[in-house]
Amino acid sequence: MPGTPQDLPSHASVVVIGGGVMGCSTLYHLAREGATDAVLIERNQLTSGTTWHSAAQVRALRSSRNLTNLARYSISLYSTLEGETGQQTGWINKGSISLATTPDRVTHVRRQEALAHLYGVRAEWIGAGEAAERWPLMRSDDVLGAVWAPDDGRVGATDLCAALTKGARARGARIFEEVGVTGILTKDNRIKGVETNRGTIRCDAIALCTGLWSREVAGMAGAIAPVWPCEHFYLLTMPIDGITGNLPTLGDHDGQLYIRDDSGGLLVGCFEPMGKAIPPELINQIKPFQLLAEDWDHFEPMMLNALHRLPVLENAEVKMLLNGPESFTPDGTFLLGETAETRGLFLGCGMNSVGVATGGGAGMALAHWICHGHPPADLGEAEANRFPACFNSIEALVARVPEELGRHYNISHPGRQMKSARNLRRLPLQDKWDAERAHFGQTYGWERPLYFHKTAEPELTFGRPAWFAPVGAEVERAHKGAAIFDQSSFGKIEVEGPDAERYLNRICANDMTRPPGRAIYTGMLNPRGGYESDVAVLRIRDDLYRIYTGTAATRRDLGWLRRHLNGERITLRDVTEEFATIGLMRPEAARVATEVGANNLNDLRYFHLGEAEIAGAHLRAVRLSYVGEAGWEITCKAQNAGRIYDALYAAGARPAGLYAQTAMRIEKGYRAVGHELDTDVTPLEAGLDFAVAWDSNFIGRETLLRRRDKGIKSRIVTILLDDLHAVPLGSEPVYAQGRIVGKATSAAFGYRIARPLALADIDAALGEGDPVEIDIARQMWPGRVTLRPAFDPTGTRMHPAKGARP
Ligand SMILES: Cc1cc2nc3c(=O)[nH]c(=O)nc-3n(C[C@H](O)[C@H](O)[C@H](O)COP(=O)(O)OP(=O)(O)OC[C@H]3O[C@@H](n4cnc5c(N)ncnc54)[C@H](O)[C@@H]3O)c2cc1C
Repeated sequence: MPGTPQDLPSHASVVVIGGGVMGCSTLYHLAREGATDAVLIERNQLTSGTTWHSAAQVRALRSSRNLTNLARYSISLYSTLEGETGQQTGWINKGSISLATTPDRVTHVRRQEALAHLYGVRAEWIGAGEAAERWPLMRSDDVLGAVWAPDDGRVGATDLCAALTKGARARGARIFEEVGVTGILTKDNRIKGVETNRGTIRCDAIALCTGLWSREVAGMAGAIAPVWPCEHFYLLTMPIDGITGNLPTLGDHDGQLYIRDDSGGLLVGCFEPMGKAIPPELINQIKPFQLLAEDWDHFEPMMLNALHRLPVLENAEVKMLLNGPESFTPDGTFLLGETAETRGLFLGCGMNSVGVATGGGAGMALAHWICHGHPPADLGEAEANRFPACFNSIEALVARVPEELGRHYNISHPGRQMKSARNLRRLPLQDKWDAERAHFGQTYGWERPLYFHKTAEPELTFGRPAWFAPVGAEVERAHKGAAIFDQSSFGKIEVEGPDAERYLNRICANDMTRPPGRAIYTGMLNPRGGYESDVAVLRIRDDLYRIYTGTAATRRDLGWLRRHLNGERITLRDVTEEFATIGLMRPEAARVATEVGANNLNDLRYFHLGEAEIAGAHLRAVRLSYVGEAGWEITCKAQNAGRIYDALYAAGARPAGLYAQTAMRIEKGYRAVGHELDTDVTPLEAGLDFAVAWDSNFIGRETLLRRRDKGIKSRIVTILLDDLHAVPLGSEPVYAQGRIVGKATSAAFGYRIARPLALADIDAALGEGDPVEIDIARQMWPGRVTLRPAFDPTGTRMHPAKGARP
């Protein structure tokens, strides 16, 4: 029985807010972790939000290994929880079939099949005939094949929550229904408690599992949770002849449908191309256990697809068109972890229609995080702080989430761009990029030029991309002429104060005790030695450093930096929008610099910083390069960027976009967060231990020393592909002698080396020249391992003394 509101404790170590599958799972796992005084408060009844009406299908395969592991954990939990608690969960393991009816869908599902093998999920390609045998009611004459995944299944969402809460209570945790959170208490940006309609509970941490209301509840603690609901539909029929027992879940994703049996009838759900956001004025009018109105006009195109796939529907009696609210985030992945703004506030929300499939594992991970201070494994994709504040606006969310719902079953073509909620943030040079007909991609709200001189909307393909030639021309410019790269979106954080050096020597793995005028490349590591961030730092004065971090890392890094303050006299300031950063690269760059009156920059040595004036505007330039060519990264006040750009342009430099920069980065073997680097990868596996000051007392040193002694099991290498037509995307399994040995982490066509290549995280036993194969949609493409950068392995081209002076 739930506790009565009168029993509400005055203190609990952790308060879980929200009694849907995420809250129930988090409470259960908190209790298992030993936080037995944890409480869950639900303003209505358990499961009364979205969870009760979930179709509750569980598919194991997700976009990354660790997200897949969460879903696999769910499967193992849901199939064993009854044994532990005596409460059934309704787990049915009948597998799933994902159909392909177009050639690109074949590639998509075969890429998924390849990933399944990498992540240890059973999946196999079957022909249309076998798919029809497994699902006799479906039409199969247009089916090209399917992927059969035997481990998938479904659960009863309400029963599951009953089992989770029973298991939690058995360990001492308590649950309070009809208790709503009305406020969150914080002090010095730390959680202190929750205010409810029944009194206050003081606590050290909150797990915020409030489903579609999470944006509002996070706001009570001054935090950001960009989550918004859409209407989500499935059709239910009365029993149909020919349906006996349970069938696998059928995915007809070209028809935007998922299909399964339900009480002898059919359940046909959809992710229609453009969903319907719930209007802001209605969000707080949704009552417990409320469904939304049927909308047959909206569902009609999906109904036609369903009639095509399941002719039997023609004569089926419709029970209802269920319409329930579900929350989505701007990029389709949920939010998990501690917020950068408020310590002790942990998000577990925005489940994007996989809350039941992932909830078991996500609740486990959240509880682990709260109790141990870090997730059980890297969960970068679900990083709670990956959106800028501008994405928390209702306007942006209402625009974006319907498109995000529609993307659920899209083919994962590389380079696909969202159309909604664009132009949220403008780069200082955006007008110039518009004039240069840039093709833009959105990151962290910024519109970044991917390539220039777009003539038409690029066609999406798994083959050689439409932008192959323009990007090649931009690389050529950076390699042989003078190219301008816009790096203004990189996060910039200033650390200022008398203790800045001491503080940064603790936070950063490299030696930060360099004189002003120097740049330092360093990781910011966690106590496990893994990368929290990978940054370049300029020492501007004795007491002032400026950190340059990844575009999407700013909030997260600021949170990390704040969290590790230990009384040092420093201030932290996000100056990203104050400054523009322009990369000016390669041979002609030196002449260009001379021509615009910044000749002194030519004398700068590698990783040294200088000041100059161009077009009357002051700038700082550091000689380093993300693309492996000699040049500078120039930082100036944002309002002066246009003048400086015009001067550089007049002297012959021309813009190059992000695709060119990325291809050049990969050729140089430079690692990037989210690809090669994450919170589980240390500088040892990454091959970046040259940037570790072993004598310095930085966070993560002890673990790193131990790991250094033990030796590494895997490492980042470059793979050069033999066939010029191979198009790896950077998320494929790598094989050696018929065995999976790792995964590609980034890939591109290397224009300067004239072949496709990938960076990959593979078995450390493989060495220089060893043959490997990359599995691209189940086709093997041979290549060779190299431990050195594919382009300019000795770095000659980046050192001005060896060739760049005009
Ligand atoms: C039609 C439909 C089909 C679906 N099918 C699937 C599927 O097949 N597989 C799958 O994995 N997922 C599916 N989903 C999605 C899945 O159901 C959700 O992701 C999941 O239920 C979300 O759980 P939650 O705990 O995050 O949110 P909820 O279940 O909404 O729980 C949040 C709770 O927080 C409470 N709350 C809010 N504010 C407060 C407050 N201030 N104080 C106290 N309590 C508060 C609410 O009352 C609510 O009970 C489907 C969703 C829909 C709509």
